[in-house]
Amino acid sequence: MNIPREPATPARWCAMALEAPGRPLQQVWREGLPQPAAGQVRIAVAVCGVCRTDLHVVDGELPFPGHAVVPGHEIVGRIGAIGAGVTGLRIGERVGVPWLGWTCGQCEHCRAGRENLCTEARYTGWQIDGGYGEQVLADARYVLRLPPAYSDEQAAPLLCAGLIGWRAYAMAGPAVRRLGLYGFGAAAHLVAQVARARGVEVYAFTRGGDSAAQELALGLGAKWCGASDQAPPLALDAALIFAPVGALVPLALRAVRPGGTVVCAGIHMSDIPSFPYAWLWGERRIVSVANLTRADGEAFMRVAQEIPLQVVTQPYALAQANQALDDLRAGCMRGAAVLRI
Ligand SMILES: [Zn+2]
Ligand SMILES: [Zn+2]
Repeated sequence: MNIPREPATPARWCAMALEAPGRPLQQVWREGLPQPAAGQVRIAVAVCGVCRTDLHVVDGELPFPGHAVVPGHEIVGRIGAIGAGVTGLRIGERVGVPWLGWTCGQCEHCRAGRENLCTEARYTGWQIDGGYGEQVLADARYVLRLPPAYSDEQAAPLLCAGLIGWRAYAMAGPAVRRLGLYGFGAAAHLVAQVARARGVEVYAFTRGGDSAAQELALGLGAKWCGASDQAPPLALDAALIFAPVGALVPLALRAVRPGGTVVCAGIHMSDIPSFPYAWLWGERRIVSVANLTRADGEAFMRVAQEIPLQVVTQPYALAQANQALDDLRAGCMRGAAVLRI
C-alpha cells in the first residue's frame, strides 16, 4: 500500500527581494511556510505580472519602504492556508492580489469611498511583500476573484495594467468617441480592447519607430498609429498617458479638443515641461489616476468577463525577474511581462 509522503517541513521557498533601491533583486530562500495572521490568506503564487510601478520601486523613484521588500502586485495564485476570521474564501481557490493591500477605513478618503487615496494605505510589493516569490500573504478583504476564462498567465496583467487602464478610461468620461493612448504597453493594449468593444476609435501613440508596439496596436483595432509628437488626424476627446514621460502631457493636451481630458495614469512621471496656457484653455483638463479601489477591481473583472480580452504576455522565469525589469526599462516589451513562478 502506498502511503502518501508528507511534504518536507519546514518548507523552503524562494523569492526575489529588493534590499536597497537601485540594486538588482536578490534571490532569497525562506524557511517555513508563512502562517496567515487573522484576516489573512497564504497564496501559492502561480504567476506575477511585472508592472512599471515595480520599476519605480526598484529604481528608487518611489520612496524605499526602509526594509527589504519582494515586489510584484499582479499576483495570481491559489489559497494554501486561511487565517482566523476569514470568510468566503476556500483552500485551493484561485485569487488575484492587486496593488491596494490595506487601507485604514477611517480617514476622510476611506469614509468618502475613495480608499485609493487613503493616507495610511499599504501597497502590495511596496510596503507589503508581493508576488515575486513562491508564497505570499494577503489581507483577505483585498483579494479579487478572477474571471475563469483567463489562464493564470493571462489573468495576471488584468490586476494592474488592466484595472488601472480601466480606471483611467472611466476618468475620461462617458462621452469619449476618439481616445488617444500614449505608450502602447501592458495597460494600453488592454484598455484599447475595452474601448473598441464600446465602439470608441483608438489612436495609439508610441515612441518613434517602435514598429512592434504599432503593429500590436493596429492588430488590436487601433484606427491610427503614430509617434508621440505627431498630431492625430482628428482632435481627440481624451488621451490616456501610460508612459512615465512628463513631456507627453503638453503633447497630449494639443491633441485633445476643447473640453477634452488628459489622464496621467502612472504613479511616477518625469517633470512636465512648461507650455503656453492656450494649450490648456478651452476647458481642457489634466487629471491623474492614483491606485485603485476594491470596487474598481470588481468592476473591471466583470468587464473582462464580458469582453474576451486578448492578453499579450512575455513570460520570464522567477529567477529572470531582473531581466524582465531591464527589458521593461529599455522599452523592448510587447504587451505585458509576467513571471512564471
Ligand atoms: Zn484611509
Ligand atoms: Zn502596477
